[in-house]
Amino acid sequence: MSSASTSSTASSNTATSGNNPSDVPRLLADHPALDLLNTLERALLDAPLDRWQSDEDVWQWLERVSLLPNGELPARRPEGMLDAAVALRESLRSAVSQRKRGDAVDVTLLNEYLGADACRTLLTAAEGGKIRLARVYPTDTPMQCLVPLALSAADLLANGDFTLIRQCESETCTMWFYDRTRAHRRRWCSMALCGNRHKVAAYRRREANASAAASAAGAANANNASDAA
Ligand SMILES: [Zn+2]
Repeated sequence: MSSASTSSTASSNTATSGNNPSDVPRLLADHPALDLLNTLERALLDAPLDRWQSDEDVWQWLERVSLLPNGELPARRPEGMLDAAVALRESLRSAVSQRKRGDAVDVTLLNEYLGADACRTLLTAAEGGKIRLARVYPTDTPMQCLVPLALSAADLLANGDFTLIRQCESETCTMWFYDRTRAHRRRWCSMALCGNRHKVAAYRRREANASAAASAAGAANANNASDAA
């Protein structure tokens, strides 16, 4: 699971401990295709933060969401994964926004990614004399390596319940999530982040209102007292 051995290539000043939520893309959307959108993050920050800066970032993310082709890092990884994955991500972002607004959804580019699917199905020997049905993805090009992710995106668009696909209610947050709570009242990307900030802000507002009301009442009392004197 640990990818510490590959972290030495990480750029800039971000440590890739893997445990610190500020260092890695957050997986909180409850759907990998929405977690894909959230790799471009705008939460707690004014400027968008793109968690993907290199091919390696994309491979590590695919591993975390279990969408590597054939379930493992290819022996020979094609170059250009970052550009291909970002194009897929932004194409899905447009499509999700269009779908939410009830506009016509442009799936041209997504279909190109799906068109790279050259998966073969074959039978292989498995343990205990059993036979396993295996699907084998070629991994020669970035688009081929992104087929499992493109399938997840396609599944979201085709089968997702768009009343439950929403963005965090925080004004400064753009994170998407799939509301799988029983009551379907999820409001925040994360209760620990935006939900908590909202609670603290609401508390401060109430406190400020209460103290403003108290000082107004105090002033009124003082006026009354001086009138009576
Ligand atoms: Zn949020």
